Amino acid sequence: MGTFFWWTDEHRKLAAGVKEFVDELMPRAEEASWKKEFPRDIADSIASKGYFGVGVAKEYGGMGLGVTGTCIVNEEIGRMPALGPGIFASAMLGGVHQVKEFGTEEQKTRFLARVAKGELGAIALTEPFVGTDAAGIETTARRDGDRYVISGKKRFVTGAGTASRYMLYARTSDEPEDIRRKRHLTGFIVEKGMPGFTVEKINELIGLDNIHNGYLNLDEVPVSVNNRIGDEGQGWQIMMSGLNYERLICASLAVGGFRELIRSVVSYGQRRIQFGQPTINISTNQFKIADMLTELKLAKLSTYYAAHLMDLGQSAVVEASISKLYGADMLMYASVEAAQVMGGDGVTKFYPLDRIMREAKTAQIAGGTSEAMKLLIYRMGLKEMADELKMPRRVIHEELGVPMPAAAAPAKQTRIDDDKLLKALAEDYRVNPGLYMSREDLKEYFDVSDEELDRVLVSLEEKKLVKLYRRRGIIELAKATYEGLNKANPSEYYRWFPSWVRKEDVF
Ligand SMILES: Cc1cc2nc3c(=O)[nH]c(=O)nc-3n(C[C@H](O)[C@H](O)[C@H](O)COP(=O)(O)OP(=O)(O)OC[C@H]3O[C@@H](n4cnc5c(N)ncnc54)[C@H](O)[C@@H]3O)c2cc1C
Repeated sequence: MGTFFWWTDEHRKLAAGVKEFVDELMPRAEEASWKKEFPRDIADSIASKGYFGVGVAKEYGGMGLGVTGTCIVNEEIGRMPALGPGIFASAMLGGVHQVKEFGTEEQKTRFLARVAKGELGAIALTEPFVGTDAAGIETTARRDGDRYVISGKKRFVTGAGTASRYMLYARTSDEPEDIRRKRHLTGFIVEKGMPGFTVEKINELIGLDNIHNGYLNLDEVPVSVNNRIGDEGQGWQIMMSGLNYERLICASLAVGGFRELIRSVVSYGQRRIQFGQPTINISTNQFKIADMLTELKLAKLSTYYAAHLMDLGQSAVVEASISKLYGADMLMYASVEAAQVMGGDGVTKFYPLDRIMREAKTAQIAGGTSEAMKLLIYRMGLKEMADELKMPRRVIHEELGVPMPAAAAPAKQTRIDDDKLLKALAEDYRVNPGLYMSREDLKEYFDVSDEELDRVLVSLEEKKLVKLYRRRGIIELAKATYEGLNKANPSEYYRWFPSWVRKEDVF
């Protein structure tokens, strides 16, 4: 297992130990996968090594090796058939992060110690009618004295039935203002054995061969207020934080799967002779393997960089989402390519490619789909880079007559009227002939209030001299209309031709 220079000695030792441990467990993991047996014995072995509690603080019985340590364990476990996703969901995810970050001291002592000892947990977020749009959760939790009564259905829960502890999200308010401000959800730990809490159905998935994934039914389940994680209404915040952590774990599992994939395809190609030479010597196969190595290196670097940021106390939302998106998508792509390199054997079930390919598909969906990752990366990434992404102010160069970055900020006008604003919009037509001006662009020229700016913009709009773009009723962009351009300047003002254009060829 490659290591990184920023890892501590404990991380390195952990990596070496868990690799050896997983190598020894591999035959049993393969067997359990073929037999479709839930491998509780393997989960017990992992627990006996203390790996379930790798990220749990030492004071609660864990190893205290943080997010990096958690990724190290998951990367190795991710090499094993189906177990990786199953165990990660159970052990690392069943509310561990949520309890660590939002739980009371009493909850940390109660739950984290159980995790460290190997208790299996699960996340119960998704519902029959609620997937990517997680804010729409329909399961309700009604306060009744010192307990909540929870009713509803959950689905796609990894560990359904085999887990003892379920980090579950339910709706505690239907007030439009709470919904708008995402204060309508609350997080709970629901436990196996609570009255009215049953497993409804177990899915047959294309991946995760021997891991339970299924539906839960909650029929008026009484849950003590002591099992509420965080405050009432804090569920969305807790969910987002938990998902962020989960995504990084998913990314580390994909890295483990990638390593097994490359091992399989390379060792195969070194031993398969066609046209008098090993098939790995064929350049098209080498190119595919070079791509796989590139993807593995980048996926691993991205994962441990994000883990390090989290260990430093940063949320690393964009980095964790990129790691998950890239790891899952590249593993899916590479597993299809790897099957091609191995020819017919690549599509038998006698090599690991089959299950890696199937699990890669589930990895693109579980923990948030690749599309959901892109939405997050787009929104949060743009926010993070907002300063760098500001459009440079450009002006028409006096001599050349073409747009150039402005050397200095314009002298701001403190008074605004129809003519001044129209002139600014018309001037912008010369610089960016196909673009509207944003509110921020206009405010570089006018030191006036939003209300004042809106008043003049609307007045110009009513005169059909300006066209406005509004979002949710708020003016965001403006441009001069054809009539507006003509009112601001004579048409000659907008003309410009390169010096090589002959006068007689333009009119
Ligand atoms: C193997 C596996 C394990 C899982 N484990 C758990 C678990 O332990 N606990 C749990 O709570 N859930 C679990 N899930 C559920 C998983 O989180 C959801 O399947 C996932 O969030 C997508 O929801 P959905 O399946 O309802 O798809 P939908 O939300 O119905 O989406 C369908 C398609 O539309 C796309 N889409 C949806 N909205 C948008 C949008 N706004 N923009 C662009 N594209 C969009 C999606 O990307 C997807 O391609 C698991 C799922 C799988 C497959």
